[in-house]
Amino acid sequence: TIYLDFNATTPIDERVLQEMNDVYRNNFGNAGSRTHVYGQMANKLVEKSRREIALLLQVDSNEVIFTSGATESNNLTLLGLAEWGLENGRTHIISSQIEHKSILEPLELLSKKGFEIELVPGNKSGRIDSNEIIRRVRSDTLLVSMMHANNETGIIQPVAEVGDFLRETPTYFHIDAAQTFGKLVEELQLIHYDFLSVSAHKIFGPQGIGALVARRKRFQFPPIQPLMLGGGQEFGLRPGTVPVALVAGFGKASILAHQEYNARKISTQQIRESIISQLSEIPHLINGDMQFGLSSTLNVSFPGIDSEALMLTLEQDLALSNGSACTSKEYKPSHVLLSMGFDEHTAHSAIRLSWGYATNEVNLEPLIAFVKDFTN
Ligand code: PMP
Repeated sequence: TIYLDFNATTPIDERVLQEMNDVYRNNFGNAGSRTHVYGQMANKLVEKSRREIALLLQVDSNEVIFTSGATESNNLTLLGLAEWGLENGRTHIISSQIEHKSILEPLELLSKKGFEIELVPGNKSGRIDSNEIIRRVRSDTLLVSMMHANNETGIIQPVAEVGDFLRETPTYFHIDAAQTFGKLVEELQLIHYDFLSVSAHKIFGPQGIGALVARRKRFQFPPIQPLMLGGGQEFGLRPGTVPVALVAGFGKASILAHQEYNARKISTQQIRESIISQLSEIPHLINGDMQFGLSSTLNVSFPGIDSEALMLTLEQDLALSNGSACTSKEYKPSHVLLSMGFDEHTAHSAIRLSWGYATNEVNLEPLIAFVKDFTN
């Protein structure tokens, strides 16, 4: 079965696994135990990884807060700012309809707590119009939260423009970079933001570890509060024993992404060209404007075909998805495609192909045959 669901998660890099193995075997201490060498060694490793991730993003290492992944980082930003927002009369939040559920659900909760939430729709190209965000910013806008690239379409959002505008305002800017961290390396180094959410397992690192990057002003974090209590770890913002091996694996995956990102981009572009040329044999629509697309994702509709039937029939040959992994059991048309203005039929006939540099040849013959059979 050819794995084409890299946006859900990636296989772990052998070099990352080796690093983690070594930590589990030889460096089992609690990074919080400063009274003996076991803890000190573990702590050194955690701080090394923190510096590696900071270097990739060109931030200060004391701005990197380890979490369990982008979901937690998104929650920590949105819910963590709530109390300060309420106390300071900053109760307006702007985001978009095409965000991941780990943004949309916390926003629903905040709306029940008295926040005014505005969600900008997507357009046919799969993008959020930056002007639609900017023109909504008011003096009581606490936060703008946008994803960098959409997980279903791979379409890159105009976060740079929004960041440039917000730089001059008191409104905080959060970017969910789960799909671009370690991929759009130079872009992310230049964009202005206050908060950035990332996960290790989208770049060949381990699952269950990620970070919230929170930019400090005059050494101070923005006014977020931790979601859990019970220890002073991670600058008091994320209590609990730091998982040293996961953190080390995250650091290693980040270094490799840093060193190899150009080669990876070229190889994912080649796979994209091969996929596009194979698809040209059958009727299909590419959802979203490809000129804004990541080189490792395509969202494609096959008119008249039910994506569920297609995926089930091809299960043995191709590992595909029709939305985000967390919601794909629900058989609901994608909220992202609907927000982009597609009708339910087109949304129902859409699948997502996502790959990575480790993907060898992609032979779509079974898919081509299925669609040909169906349309004949
Ligand atoms: N945001 C986006 C855009 C994502 O693609 C994902 C992963 N599907 C997440 C957040 C959540 O990441 P994690 O599951 O690692 O917490």
